[in-house]
Amino acid sequence: MARNFKRIETKLIHAGEPRPRIAGAVELPIFQSAMFEYAGETSYHDLKYIRLNNTPNHTALHEKLAALENAEAALITASGMAAISTTLLTVLSAGDHLLAQSCLYGGTHDLLTKDFAKFGLTFDFIDADDRHSWQAALRPNTKAIYVEAMTNPLLEVADLRGVVEFAREQRLVSIIDNTFASPINFRPMEIGFDLSLHSATKYLNGHSDIVAGAVAGRAAVIERITHKLNHLGGSMDPHAAFLLNRGLKTLALRVRHQNQSTLRVAQFLESHPSVARVNYAGLETHPRHERAHELFEGYGGVLSFELKGSTDRAQDFMNRTTIPIIAPSLGGVQTLLTRPATTSHSGMSRDDRLRLGIGDNLIRMSVGIEATEEILEDFEQALA
Ligand code: PLP
Repeated sequence: MARNFKRIETKLIHAGEPRPRIAGAVELPIFQSAMFEYAGETSYHDLKYIRLNNTPNHTALHEKLAALENAEAALITASGMAAISTTLLTVLSAGDHLLAQSCLYGGTHDLLTKDFAKFGLTFDFIDADDRHSWQAALRPNTKAIYVEAMTNPLLEVADLRGVVEFAREQRLVSIIDNTFASPINFRPMEIGFDLSLHSATKYLNGHSDIVAGAVAGRAAVIERITHKLNHLGGSMDPHAAFLLNRGLKTLALRVRHQNQSTLRVAQFLESHPSVARVNYAGLETHPRHERAHELFEGYGGVLSFELKGSTDRAQDFMNRTTIPIIAPSLGGVQTLLTRPATTSHSGMSRDDRLRLGIGDNLIRMSVGIEATEEILEDFEQALA
């Protein structure tokens, strides 16, 4: 009998897991076999082969992720960028136009600005907070609108309900990168998004030991994206799939701890005399706090801030901390610090970066699951 798990904590453990259990194994084993015996399949896409994303490790995760996002179907990919590029190349064809939020993850920004033209695709950046401006950017060939749940690294929360309404009115495919929120804090399908994307490298896996991606949405679109992925080849390795399935089991515990810990760090920084600005939607002073409160169940584990003084002062502070690791990326169990100007947004021109508000001295923090008190003590000594 198909089992219908109601709560996300239970889905994380049981959704998609094979029944009966394989040889009784409590944990889904790794199917490290490139190909499987031919069993009379009639379609290329149904042949059992790792690149076709259909080993038991893949199919269990597809079902689990769909359950977590409350979507009809989901697909795992070799990286977040594989999910993003394959989705965009499925939804858009040569000659099509995309509306995209202006402050995007650096890799996605580069894909649009550096590669889109070669595929005959065009785009315009929009202020995803100003719904009155979108109509002007619309063209007869506009096919989709693309936003992020919380922007990286400024943690802005766009008018996401407005995006869904606009997409419906204009018959556009609405796509959201839900990496920063994770399905614990936000499930975009529930407010009407068509497709939700993830860098599963971040919260979904949560242990900073694999690169992975995911996309969730309606079954018919996911099937088209799957076929595109089968051609482009950005499939996930079964060992990475095994680790992702293991990591997912603690997602709710990790993310809820990170929500609480990050709010405390944000409050500490906001009240510290050396800090000029803190970006975190959980703070009541954040301009979009009310909106974030209405949309999300938690405000996530990433914040960014600027210290008073020069870029050297920011770098010096980072070097003086002892608990965080100075490294790009986010969403793992370890607290990480980075200056986006030198990492995630280094591909962008300095002028573009500054125009978006990403200064050289901006520090992004991904809060791990260490003791909050100890992180605060460490920050106190590093700021002294
Ligand atoms: N989307 C967001 C919001 C990200 O932060 C990242 C990576 O940092 C990506 C997508 C790309 O994911 P990946 O590095 O897994 O390809």
